[in-house]
Amino acid sequence: MITERLAQLQSDIAKISEQNSQTRPLLLAVSKCQPVARIREAVAAGQYHFGENYLQEAIDKQAIISNANIVWHYIGAIQSNKTKKIAAHFDWVHTVSDIKTAKRLSGQRPEGQPALQICLQINIDNEASKAGILPDKAAILTVVKAVSALPNIQLRGLMCIPAPKTTPEAERATFEQMQALLGWLQSEGYPLDTLSMGMSDDMASAIACGATIVRVGTAIFGARSAA
Ligand SMILES: *Cc1c(COP(=O)(O)O)cnc(C)c1O
Repeated sequence: MITERLAQLQSDIAKISEQNSQTRPLLLAVSKCQPVARIREAVAAGQYHFGENYLQEAIDKQAIISNANIVWHYIGAIQSNKTKKIAAHFDWVHTVSDIKTAKRLSGQRPEGQPALQICLQINIDNEASKAGILPDKAAILTVVKAVSALPNIQLRGLMCIPAPKTTPEAERATFEQMQALLGWLQSEGYPLDTLSMGMSDDMASAIACGATIVRVGTAIFGARSAA
């Protein structure tokens, strides 16, 4: 089942990318609240990038699966007392919202590991309930400048979790703002190459607007058990 869904998704992603003249994004399989057996099935089908939201759950699963080819992405909320383990157990972190968190991740990245790959989360729809830097250029630039100078992390780009929209046009309007912000940062001289946006329900709109990583859970693994 998972094998078929992954194949279907990859073919959908290829088609949508081609139709929109966009480079094909990386498919990040979001495996939070999914059992290890389902992750193993995805790995057997050639899926190596996995996203997790809950630190302890992720660490437990990593220990059981123990596969050096897997690239682990942390996409959950970051409490400051968790940064040490996040820095040690992941290859990417998509949800950095402030300089303090970035400094801790850089300082706590274990010696000998490559730079932690980072995206800054943008609270693109100005939602009180969501983390992220507000979509204000001055605020974003301040964080980008400081984070780019840190030694053990590499700033790759921007990430967002938009408010639910009712039409593809509304979805695209939001993703276009993200695309514009990334382009603006590039024009300011920052070598960023990543837009982490699009989930099971809005993936097509995100790809049309230049997503380079789509984060898909339900459409691969089915419904999740409670966290
Ligand atoms: C859960 C989650 C996803 C995947 O959502 P689906 O709707 O299951 O595809 C993507 N990104 C983040 C940050 C998530 O928390």
